[in-house]
Amino acid sequence: MNDKNACYTVRRNRLLVMFGERCRTCGDTQDLEFAHQRRTDCVGMGRGYANRVRDVERRPEAYTLLCSRCHDLLDNRPVRKRQSEIIRDPVRLAHA
Ligand SMILES: [Zn+2]
Repeated sequence: MNDKNACYTVRRNRLLVMFGERCRTCGDTQDLEFAHQRRTDCVGMGRGYANRVRDVERRPEAYTLLCSRCHDLLDNRPVRKRQSEIIRDPVRLAHA
């Protein structure tokens, strides 16, 4: 990680605190992501990590904080496997 990304990590953490550090839907405190509540210009390809952080800072009212599972459900995507579940669930992984 270079200095620029480290800087964005600090800024992202500040935003997480501002949003309450938990999923707005289920209250989970892990795998948190900023999800669009309504459309901003920061959509589609090319929206990198730094761009997302900047966009949330600029328009916090356009975002909500969700865990990866609730975010996937909201966006109608297949729910991603969580890192914590992969470690906790070696049996299911073996049969995947
Ligand atoms: Zn959630």
